Amino acid sequence: MWSLRAWRYRRLLRRARIAEATWTQVREAFPVLDGLSADEDARLRDLTTLFLHEKTLEPAGDLVLDETMRVAIAAQACLPILHLGLDWYDGWSAVIVYPAEFVPRLEWTDEAGVVHTGEEVRSGEAWQYGPVILSWDDVQASGAGDGYNVVIHEFAHKLDARNGHTEGLPPLHRDMDVREWSSRFAAAFEDLNARVARGEEPAIDPYAGEAPEEFFAVTSEYFFEIPDILHATYPEVYALLRRFYRQDPLARLAPHRVAPGG
Ligand SMILES: [Zn+2]
Repeated sequence: MWSLRAWRYRRLLRRARIAEATWTQVREAFPVLDGLSADEDARLRDLTTLFLHEKTLEPAGDLVLDETMRVAIAAQACLPILHLGLDWYDGWSAVIVYPAEFVPRLEWTDEAGVVHTGEEVRSGEAWQYGPVILSWDDVQASGAGDGYNVVIHEFAHKLDARNGHTEGLPPLHRDMDVREWSSRFAAAFEDLNARVARGEEPAIDPYAGEAPEEFFAVTSEYFFEIPDILHATYPEVYALLRRFYRQDPLARLAPHRVAPGG
């Protein structure tokens, strides 16, 4: 089937594909992008090129966003959709990048009717129908293969929000079962919170226990960054994320890194 979008994409990739030197530089600076097959690497580079064409990356404050920084953000944003497609990010267009952690300017009213202005410092934010907001400091701290990735975290919220709610349940593929997803994620979520309540030091960042949507976003970070840890801790969550993202980052790890039982 002929599609205008596919035609535009092919033309754009012929004319404006990310330069080899920039791509290599970004891959070396962010080990989370390592271990892809040659095919996957080429696909990620294409997706990143198209992402930068479709979205606007806007610096805030006194930040200057150069091409390498733009590619670093876009490549990590595209890793989760490597086998899903760019249309998973349809419906919004801006990524706003602050130099460092920021305080949202929004006013919001809590359940008791109290109006709050931004008071909580953030490293990232994803609006349901609006922009993704990132701190460049935190982008730089991401992608090292240690489990922290603000880009994957915020873009996981975007995938989650596609069905109209952000609640730790993105739109699942046809061969996946919502009840299975919900019960297995809920069991892991409760387990994490029970461990925290007992004073244990859990293998997963306790922030994941704040809400089901945070559990999905944080386990997505682990899935791509330290899949061995997630697989060893919550194998059923790992298996569901593998089916959702249609990728198996555990298989990309060098054998010496795979945790026992992983
Ligand atoms: Zn979050």
